[in-house]
Amino acid sequence: MVLVYRYRVKSLTGLLNQQARTVSFVWNYCNDRQKDALRFGRPWLTGFDLNNLTTGSSKELGLHSGVINAVCEQFAKSRAQHRRPYLRYRSRKSLGWVPMKGRDLHREGNAFRFAGNTFRVFYSRPLPEGKIRDGSCFAQDRRGNWFLNIVIEVAEPPIRPLGQGVGIDLGLKDFAVLSNKERIDAPGFYRKAEAALAVAQRAHKRRRVKAIHARTARQRLDFLNKRSVELVRAFDHIAVGSINAGGLAQTGLAKSVLDAGWSTFRKMLAYKAIRHGVRYVEVSERFTTQTCSTCGALPDSRPKGIAGLGIREWTCSDCETVHDRDVNAAINILRRGRATLEAGISVL
Ligand SMILES: [Zn+2]
Repeated sequence: MVLVYRYRVKSLTGLLNQQARTVSFVWNYCNDRQKDALRFGRPWLTGFDLNNLTTGSSKELGLHSGVINAVCEQFAKSRAQHRRPYLRYRSRKSLGWVPMKGRDLHREGNAFRFAGNTFRVFYSRPLPEGKIRDGSCFAQDRRGNWFLNIVIEVAEPPIRPLGQGVGIDLGLKDFAVLSNKERIDAPGFYRKAEAALAVAQRAHKRRRVKAIHARTARQRLDFLNKRSVELVRAFDHIAVGSINAGGLAQTGLAKSVLDAGWSTFRKMLAYKAIRHGVRYVEVSERFTTQTCSTCGALPDSRPKGIAGLGIREWTCSDCETVHDRDVNAAINILRRGRATLEAGISVL
């Protein structure tokens, strides 16, 4: 399994700024050669061709040859990905980027050795054992801070046996309701930030608006990361209902749906599950709210349609069990997920 670890760089950022400019120069050189190829009707240059064209320029440019290769290869790759004949030039306004070959980056205690320099980082979490792969890079964020992104190949942990599982019903009132009756409150950062945003927007303070948006996004990611990691630590298998957030977002519920970040949450659960040897499934939500989780019937008293949306609690007319609407749904989701896993159609 391939993971990316990200560390804030705390030394030699001046060197990185300088190298990033040279990287842009190499990138623009690739773009120029590509435009030449178009103009003269020549075959388009592959990463391999671009590598050949830039061979031997390392010393003159003051850039590690691995970096030049990585830029050339990424250029060819991006061109294919974006399906464009040529790409945008990198300018001084572009965020700094210094890609590298995985083999050129080495650990040195809590720092990293690259191209003859030792880069000290805020070693926020230990880098696991494993092979560092291509695609690793130094990259700058919007505020000008440098980060070292390390792509690392680590062994997958063994998959845990189907012990204790959890079903998750994602919702609007609570962010999520679990089959064990626990509830995760909706964070609603966006709503909280809204007042501050309105003030800033009226005053035309664009930087402030940007900062508020950035903070909200960070808080949301932090919330989703924490909740998802708690779940993969606590359970052996996880089943989530596959609500179509995109569809709901078009209704009047838009703002809270976007705020809730269900799809991001599911993605996080899916990859964290692999990391922890947990099995993860998404199951259809159809009738999970309406089926009685005790007797499995679709009783007459079930919450139905639009009219049933507001019903929080209901009693099964067949077996007399009193259900919390969301917990009942979560239990049904867990049951469906477990059935899927036991049938061997594991979605890993
Ligand atoms: Zn029942």
